[in-house]
Amino acid sequence: MTSLRHAPRKRFGQNFLVDPHYIDRIVAAVDPGPGDNVVEIGPGLGALTRPLLDRVERLTVIEIDRDLAARLSDEFAADRLCIHTADALAFDFATLGSELRVVGNLPYNISSPMLFHLAQFEASLRDITVMLQREVVQRMVAAPATPDYGRLSVMLQTRFRIERLFIVPPGAFRPAPLVDSAIARLTPLGEARPTIDDETVFARVVAAAFGQRRKTLRNALKLLAGDAELEREGIAPGARGETLAVSDFVRLANALAQTARQSG
Ligand code: SAM
Repeated sequence: MTSLRHAPRKRFGQNFLVDPHYIDRIVAAVDPGPGDNVVEIGPGLGALTRPLLDRVERLTVIEIDRDLAARLSDEFAADRLCIHTADALAFDFATLGSELRVVGNLPYNISSPMLFHLAQFEASLRDITVMLQREVVQRMVAAPATPDYGRLSVMLQTRFRIERLFIVPPGAFRPAPLVDSAIARLTPLGEARPTIDDETVFARVVAAAFGQRRKTLRNALKLLAGDAELEREGIAPGARGETLAVSDFVRLANALAQTARQSG
């Protein structure tokens, strides 16, 4: 039997949900059916795991902290809860089957890398419902020409429809974090996903455009595109990156990838 007390580990971003109102709201937002393929990242002390298991026949969890994983295996039968003691950032989600419904109260320090990692398994996903820092969710859903619009917005919006569902205040956790959190839902765009010819070129263009926000595109993209290439794609070289729509970034990156292929 594992000991009852668990001292929260800062290095694993452990802020445990304790407010039943928010726990209920998160589970209601996921609204899992009995046969759904639900995967929880970072189950911790089981605040979401227990009510999720009330709704699904089988649940998969990925927990990096061995002590917490051991507690969960003491509490739940292996035929209901499948525990992977592993780093979710390096986990191969394709091994878990299809139509995955990912749920998690993610540690703040790994939230963006976790979303980029999950984006690679887009074809295996049905949806992702995650708790993140409120400010990160604002950046994810931001529209062009707003202060929160940036690399995270563009990179994720090319793959997912993103909704901000509700805010969760610090008092809902032990220990309480310093900032507000928010629940976001990401649904793969599927057929509506824009075609990106070369992901590396696309990522480079987006990173450069937002690298120094006050620079014009002419300066920010100096090493990647000249005025003529920008103008050919209907993009004003004197504009700033934050004014471009996601579709502008896709068009420009695809044109640059084509030029590189032709000259290469
Ligand atoms: N889901 C629980 C809750 O809501 O109370 C715990 C949330 S706590 C913010 C984050 C959880 O993710 C912790 O249990 C932590 O050990 C786990 N975790 C941190 N980094 C992880 C990683 N790279 N892979 C898997 N789990 C991780």
